[in-house]
Amino acid sequence: MEDVHLNVKVPLLDLKAQYQRIRPEIDRALAKVFENGMFTNGPFVRELEATFAKYLNASYCRACANGTDALELALEAMGIQRGDEVLVPALTWISTASAVSRVGAKPVFVDIDPEYYTIDPEDCKNKITPKTKAIIPVHLYGNPAPMKELMQIARKHHLWVIEDAAQAHGATYQGAKVGTIGDIGTFSFYPTKVLGTYGEGGAIVTSHARVAKSIRIMLNQGQIEKNIHVMEGRNSRMGEMQAAMLQVKLPYLDTWIKESNRVARYYDENIDKRFYQLPKRQAETTHVYHQYVIRTRKREALMSFLESKGIQTAVHYPIPLPFQPAYKHYGHFPEDFPVATQLKNEILSLPVFPEMSEKQVEWVVKQLATFASQHP
Ligand SMILES: *Cc1c(COP(=O)(O)O)cnc(C)c1O
Repeated sequence: MEDVHLNVKVPLLDLKAQYQRIRPEIDRALAKVFENGMFTNGPFVRELEATFAKYLNASYCRACANGTDALELALEAMGIQRGDEVLVPALTWISTASAVSRVGAKPVFVDIDPEYYTIDPEDCKNKITPKTKAIIPVHLYGNPAPMKELMQIARKHHLWVIEDAAQAHGATYQGAKVGTIGDIGTFSFYPTKVLGTYGEGGAIVTSHARVAKSIRIMLNQGQIEKNIHVMEGRNSRMGEMQAAMLQVKLPYLDTWIKESNRVARYYDENIDKRFYQLPKRQAETTHVYHQYVIRTRKREALMSFLESKGIQTAVHYPIPLPFQPAYKHYGHFPEDFPVATQLKNEILSLPVFPEMSEKQVEWVVKQLATFASQHP
């Protein structure tokens, strides 16, 4: 019935609803931090590193201040520096590329795959030069990048693989959790991510003991022990409160992923595929739906229509990185990135989150159908 739905509001994500589910545990965890009287780089951070490594089946985990630092620390620990080139996808959050520039190297943009929106292995091959040192695949929107193809290219050309898993905690590729397939994996715990803290946080996972060891030192001012600085590092420590809150959330992650997948399945089965192009997944992967991204030529009109029906949407991302003002000096043309150039005008992220009610999901699907019927 139309009027039943009239007041349904559908945000992209509902962190307040999530808090209501875990409130007593979060409150207890915070009290414990205050009782301990240690606020950074303490027992909760150490415990989080152990439990997150265990969850992912990673050898080593290092918690840090945010996902951007995680990328920078990873690149630095792999020895990436001035004169080096690093392949990054054209469509991603800016940190993937800015971290490369921050360590002095050059981000080389690669077009994305037209089906999966992750870095295109074929275009990677075109962009490799004698200066290329690493590839950073991004598991964009929670959808694993084609790691098998990318690892083959990397091994052949002796490149490091740094997985940017900031949007894909818990996603799997051929049975392995993303972040553990390449040489090093990086995560963000920004509040809106699949696993987010209340504040900022990040993590690095690796199976290379040497790399894990140097990252531990780098992120804490180059100290190997109190007052002994073996290098100039930085302050990228994680706060105890952030770690304590992540410890509360981590055991729920798989349930939340299942719930988001339930929403995605409903979209998959009920949105009109003749009018909208729906997201695809590769075989043998699990997608964690950080975003559920559809494509339509009528994107702007659809966005305002949905907004008028109380449905929040967003575009991730309207300007591919090669065309950002920050990268103007590279002089890229739209023709250099045909897929990213077309997609930027068509992609739209629909609401998807674990707590989304049946009523909310149905409302979104219904309004998408109404819009389609008005735009034959
Ligand atoms: C969020 C994000 C980052 C950066 O993480 P922060 O914690 O915000 O610094 C890096 N890469 C991708 C793909 C992201 O989505």
